[in-house]
Amino acid sequence: MKGSFNLNTLLRDNIKKLVPYSSARSEFKGEASVLLDANENAFGSPYRENYHRYPDPLQHQVKAKLTKIKGVPAENIFLGNGSDEAIDLLFRAFCTPGKDNVILVPPTYGMYEVSANINDVAFKKVNLTVDYQLDLDAIAAAIDAHTKMIFICSPNNPTGNSLNRQDIETVLVNFDGLVIVDEAYINYSKQPSFTKDLAEFPNLVVLQTLSKAWGLAALRLGMAFASTSIIEVFNKIKPPYNINQATQDIVLEALDNVEQVNTWIKAIVEERESLSQRLQALEQVEHITPSDANFILVKLEEPKALYNFLVSHGIIVRDRSKVELCEGCLRLTIGTAEENAAVLAAVYTFYGVELN
Ligand SMILES: *Cc1c(COP(=O)(O)O)cnc(C)c1O
Repeated sequence: MKGSFNLNTLLRDNIKKLVPYSSARSEFKGEASVLLDANENAFGSPYRENYHRYPDPLQHQVKAKLTKIKGVPAENIFLGNGSDEAIDLLFRAFCTPGKDNVILVPPTYGMYEVSANINDVAFKKVNLTVDYQLDLDAIAAAIDAHTKMIFICSPNNPTGNSLNRQDIETVLVNFDGLVIVDEAYINYSKQPSFTKDLAEFPNLVVLQTLSKAWGLAALRLGMAFASTSIIEVFNKIKPPYNINQATQDIVLEALDNVEQVNTWIKAIVEERESLSQRLQALEQVEHITPSDANFILVKLEEPKALYNFLVSHGIIVRDRSKVELCEGCLRLTIGTAEENAAVLAAVYTFYGVELN
């Protein structure tokens, strides 16, 4: 599996040859007072002063702020309409349908498979081990000449645990394709982010999002961190104005609230530990996977009946009990103290246990 990493040989031919759409605003750079190049409504916007103009296609202001928070230079950042856009663009840039394939390591985030299917790209599944770690030998055996990407989620959804850093590095070093490390839940983990290692691994793409710890799921802002050449590929094929002005404005304001976000992270981690302990005390709870995320995967008796019981009490959790390697498990997002108390009380009632 080891040759050497070459981005150009990974790219699809049509993308290599692509002449990207050149928007009015990206052709002209500088100060101007009369903008008659983009067929906008020069009279104004019915909403906000600047909303009759197309937004900055490369989101310079948002990236400058993210650089301060994440310590990653702006030229190593791509912003997408959710991480899901970055995932889709990766398939479109690097995988020729009917020819290339990717490796997925389930149980993991469902969007990689859906995105592969939408793009008609084959995938090979290499299950995690029973303790939810990478099966390095099986991954090595699954890689072939047409394998372009491996998707690794850490902390992993739906299991909640972090994957061993050493194992991820082994894949990065030994695989010539792209390794996508999805860190949607990194804020809840003590593990260092792989964004610190971009210089060391030219084939690394790190995904993060504002949808989870940042509390901005409705805005749809995902981040991809990678080498400048990979970021250039994203920028070449993305829809020109993929991040709208409203999102850019709100994100700029929201990013000033790092302290608030950190307070929430601490509170959620504390809630996670206390909910886990109380659930663990029940004899009907067989196992809780140690979590580095804002959810826990709980193996317990009668998962489906409990799920339905919770639904009937207006509490919705994620039923993963039929997912391979998650048999018998429900995934519970950590809520507020009140919400966690409510779910706990309902679980006690279901099993006929006295709440003490
Ligand atoms: C929730 C989640 C995301 C977030 O996707 P967005 O499109 O940014 O909302 C990405 N990856 C994983 C593993 C997730 O669980």
